[in-house]
Amino acid sequence: MPSPWKRAVVKLSGESLMGSQTHGLDQATLDRIAADFVTAAKLGVEIAVVVGGGNFFRGIQGADKGIDRARADSIGMLATVMNGLALEHAIEKAGQPARALSAVPMPYVCQPYSRQAALNHLCKRRIVVLAGGTGNPFFTTDTGAALRGAELSCDVILKATQVDGVYSADPKKDPSATRYERLTQREAIDKQLEIMDTSAFALARENRIPIIVFSIREPGAITAALEGRGRSTIVEP
Ligand code: UDP
Repeated sequence: MPSPWKRAVVKLSGESLMGSQTHGLDQATLDRIAADFVTAAKLGVEIAVVVGGGNFFRGIQGADKGIDRARADSIGMLATVMNGLALEHAIEKAGQPARALSAVPMPYVCQPYSRQAALNHLCKRRIVVLAGGTGNPFFTTDTGAALRGAELSCDVILKATQVDGVYSADPKKDPSATRYERLTQREAIDKQLEIMDTSAFALARENRIPIIVFSIREPGAITAALEGRGRSTIVEP
C-alpha cells in the first residue's frame, strides 16, 4: 500500500530497544525494528529516526543523584549516540543504507549533524539516524524529533511508544479508557492529553506537522503507521 507521507521523522525511545531486558540493547529487538525500517523505506518514504537514550541513562536520573543537570544531560546525549550507532548497524545489516549523524560532534564515530548532510542522505534514500537529540542539555529527544521534523521538512512525526495510541485516560489504570482514532492538536490541549513533551508538541503545532502515536511492540508497526493501517492515533494540526 503506498504511504501518504513523503518524508517522516520517527521518534524511537531508548526503552523500545531494550526488549524484555531492564536496560541496554536487545539484539533481537534491534533487528526486528531495523527490518521494519527497511520495509518502511521500501514504501518510498524518506525516513529520519531520532533515537532516545533512556535504556542507558536519562539526565534527570543523574541530576537526582547530584550530578549537575547540564553534565547529566551530556551523559544522556552520549547514551543516544550508543543507540544510534547500534541502530545504524542493524539497519545496514537488514539491507538498507543508513547514516548516523550526531548533534554532539564526534567525528571519530559518526558524521556530525548538519541539516545539509541529513537532507543529502535522505535524498539518496539512506535512513538517517539522528543521535544526540538537539545537542543541548535541558531538552529531550522528543523535542529533538519535532525540531528535526520541522527543519528537515518532514510531513509527519511518528511517535513510537509502548501503547497503541492516545487514550482518554491511562489505560493501565482506567479500564474504561478509550483510544482516539483522530484528534486535533487543539483538542489534545483542551483535553490535557500528553502526546509529546510540551516543547516538542509546541514545535509540531507551530509548524503544522501531524503526529502519529503508535505501539512499537507490534512487528511491522512503523510500516503500518506509515500506510495508515494498524492501531494508532493521528493528532492533526
Ligand atoms: N538529552 C539532552 N538533550 C537533548 C536530548 C536528550 O540533554 O536534546 C539527554 C537527556 O538527559 C535525556 C537523555 O539525553 O534524558 C536521553 O534522551 P531521552 O530521555 O529523550 O530518551 P528516551 O526517553 O526517549 O529514551
